[in-house]
Amino acid sequence: PPTTIFVITPTYARLVQKAELTRLSQTFLHVPQLHWIVVEDSPQKTPLVTDLLKKSGLVYTHLHVPTAKDHKLQEGDPSWLKPRGVQQRNEGLRWLREDRRAEAGGDNLQGVVYFADDDNTYSLQVFEEMRSTQRVSVWPVGLVGGMKYERPVVEGGKKVVRFHTGWRPNRPFPIDMASFAVSLKLVLANPEACFDGNAPMGLLESSFLQGLVTIDELEPKADNCTKVLVWHTRTEKPKMKREEALQAQGLGSDPALEV
Ligand code: UDP
Ligand code: MN
Repeated sequence: PPTTIFVITPTYARLVQKAELTRLSQTFLHVPQLHWIVVEDSPQKTPLVTDLLKKSGLVYTHLHVPTAKDHKLQEGDPSWLKPRGVQQRNEGLRWLREDRRAEAGGDNLQGVVYFADDDNTYSLQVFEEMRSTQRVSVWPVGLVGGMKYERPVVEGGKKVVRFHTGWRPNRPFPIDMASFAVSLKLVLANPEACFDGNAPMGLLESSFLQGLVTIDELEPKADNCTKVLVWHTRTEKPKMKREEALQAQGLGSDPALEV
């Protein structure tokens, strides 16, 4: 059977959440042997996500952990101020290392781990590229970092020698969360490796990868990193001007109707 891909997705409640998770889940339905680990940024599991997962048709694990208040962006903060989804990704890693490992009973620990934010756009091909990951595989990401794409640059056949990025190319791993996958074996063999929420801007990915791999060992995918198969899309925040005006007259949309 194909190697299982464990996809860890942090998610949080907002107007577009159900739309994002619907799009994502329906992409994942087309991917064989995918196990979706959804980690809510909330003190409890919410009914919206619980129901969506139940009806999704996917193999999934539903977790939650609230982001500590001092790590959370406040209204009006610029989005780059603090990294998002950190404790949720770490909770996904904890589940793989503790719960999943116990469940699998020491063997059958084959697998690949991928961190998929809920608002990005994923081609089906990117999952087939990452499925053969031995340690850490990498590929380009479109529409990220103020660029058309960022990518590892491959020379001499198969080695990543540098990175095409517009910003701080000397970061240990100047790549986006969407641009790499890690073998489950490597995750389990390095129980301390996790995301550091206090890492300086742009160093979140590095904080995790530094403990796992060197640039020399990276496995380039997507035709030696020449194809864009995932996009760092971002969803516009819907305007609620009319909703608020109607609410003021007692004519707002029915809050019981889930959107
Ligand atoms: N996220 C979260 N809690 C938050 C903000 C974001 O769990 O308070 C999740 C979000 O749902 C997404 C990931 O963290 O899956 C990255 O967030 P976002 O897409 O806003 O980051 P950006 O695209 O701006 O880097
Ligand atoms: Mn995003």
